[in-house]
Amino acid sequence: MDRKKRVKRLKRLIIGTIITLMVLPSVLAVFFFFRYKDAESRYLKALDDINFYLENHSEMEFLESDAPASPEAEVQVANQYKDLTKEEIEKLQLSPEEVYAGYTKVYLTFDDGPSSNTAPILDILKEYDVPATFFVNRRDGRNYENLYRRIVNEGHALGLHSTSHIYSEVYNSEEDFKADTKELRDFLYMVTGVESDIYRFPGGSSNHVSKIDMHVFADCLEKEGIVFFDWNVSSQDASSVPQTRESIVRNVKKGLEGKTEAIILFHDLGSKDATVKALPEIIEYIQGMDNTVILPITKETNPIRHLSVE
Ligand SMILES: [Zn+2]
Repeated sequence: MDRKKRVKRLKRLIIGTIITLMVLPSVLAVFFFFRYKDAESRYLKALDDINFYLENHSEMEFLESDAPASPEAEVQVANQYKDLTKEEIEKLQLSPEEVYAGYTKVYLTFDDGPSSNTAPILDILKEYDVPATFFVNRRDGRNYENLYRRIVNEGHALGLHSTSHIYSEVYNSEEDFKADTKELRDFLYMVTGVESDIYRFPGGSSNHVSKIDMHVFADCLEKEGIVFFDWNVSSQDASSVPQTRESIVRNVKKGLEGKTEAIILFHDLGSKDATVKALPEIIEYIQGMDNTVILPITKETNPIRHLSVE
């Protein structure tokens, strides 16, 4: 009898084990299948969110940023854009002034080039990743043409500063002024493909060399859709008293005091080595100023002028 019982128990044990071994994997398979499905759908959803965010990131910030109420808010808006790349800002089609509303804006401008110092200046600007504005004259020859092109290709603004810079020719008459401006503009367009629409008068708009009222020439430019700019900070690098690297740095620092918009005048001439030597320290100083940005001049830039035109 005992033996029969034992066999029966053993049978049950074997059958039970077989059934368990057969059923358990199926149960586990079903369990893990649903776990997996759930995780997969959450993963795909998260991926969608990430893609949507990446694709709409810039536009979303743009939409959220309208009508800043105070200078502080404007700085916050500007700070939103600060992390965007140059390409992303371009895509938003905002002017630098809109992107950097509420910032102190500094414009580095170089007159009278190109010269043997243009390439060293461009090298420094590239090293610090800083844009500038070059108000140029006409100089023929492949070396000069390459410099005009470098100015444009490296993201700087190309401005007009008359063909010859010879006061008696440029300011001789309204007709001569128009012809001089057109000649330089056409020349630069041919060399760089850029039709410059910003101008700086040789000697500035408040010069005492023109016998004709400067308003006449200002009107000529306006009719052509060209905006002219003077400066409110002078490096004094063209002063009759020769300047050193140190004095140029000092002049600029003093000139920047208390300004929220500063157009700095430098000269890009072969004789102005002190300007080139002063430039790195000046850029580092500006980059160390609070809420300050260095921008190239465009038609939208607030025109700082010595001559009043209303
Ligand atoms: Zn000049």
